[in-house]
Amino acid sequence: MKLYNKSELMPLLENFGFNFSKTLGQNFLIDKNILDKIIDNSNINKNTNVLEIGPGAGTLTYELCKRAKKVVAIEIDKALIPILEHNLSEFNNFTLINDNIMKIDLKELIDKYFGNQKFIIAANLPYYITTPIIMNIFEGGFNVESMILMIQKEVADRIYAKPGTKDYGALTVGVGFYASPEIICQAPPHCFTPQPKVSSVVIKLNVYEKPPYHVNNKEMFFKMVKSVFSQRRKTLVNSLSGSPFIYCDKTQIENALKTMGPDLKIRGEKLDIGKLAELSNYLFK
Ligand code: SAM
Repeated sequence: MKLYNKSELMPLLENFGFNFSKTLGQNFLIDKNILDKIIDNSNINKNTNVLEIGPGAGTLTYELCKRAKKVVAIEIDKALIPILEHNLSEFNNFTLINDNIMKIDLKELIDKYFGNQKFIIAANLPYYITTPIIMNIFEGGFNVESMILMIQKEVADRIYAKPGTKDYGALTVGVGFYASPEIICQAPPHCFTPQPKVSSVVIKLNVYEKPPYHVNNKEMFFKMVKSVFSQRRKTLVNSLSGSPFIYCDKTQIENALKTMGPDLKIRGEKLDIGKLAELSNYLFK
């Protein structure tokens, strides 16, 4: 089945009376080249478990099922369920769950289908919830090896940004703390139907088995990061001492910075993840 072929996909969707929903971020992939790149870079083999978020009509799902050990897909839209069941009927390694990725108990689901085995995540994500999905998965501490994701280009730029640039922020640090990001390819609007207004990028997040950054108090580290980037025009000392998210007095922060070396007027956005972790360890036990 060539679901990536628009002339094959559209009549099929029409037969089922399917209408695209803008609110659910439904832009289906119709580019074979991009599909191949996702598959080639996901390193799937017959031992791989895959969790797919938002399978749509099953274009990516079909290729995943052909190669993986097990594919579990979560799709919110009821209207897509009979379409997916039809398109993937030849596979017995496929489980479809009609639910909302933001509401489902992910831990229970992962325990049920993958136990303590490793898995990967593959998704052409609905853009309206890209960041919370990625962060929920990291924070859940699951046995994820990697995530291969189609995301909005602007979000990929923020994930991949270097310290001191305008895109560098809480998302860069949040993702970079858990994984090393790798840009796979660009996907312009014409690779989808209907065409989105924005450009997209396929990104792979290679999750660290052993995180390279040690923080004493992860909760306080992330609150500190939030403080740094929510007041990015201020110096680090001012943004942290005035933060509503953490309590630290000015002298404590100045002492930490003196020990660490950078100048006292530095802005937090210049610090890389390692330095932010170091600062957090000075401030929070
Ligand atoms: N994977 C398909 C493809 O590549 O053609 C469809 C990708 S489309 C960008 C996003 C998909 O996510 C849609 O099928 C949409 O219905 C689904 N979706 C949106 N919000 C969701 C949610 N909260 N939970 C699960 N699926 C969701």
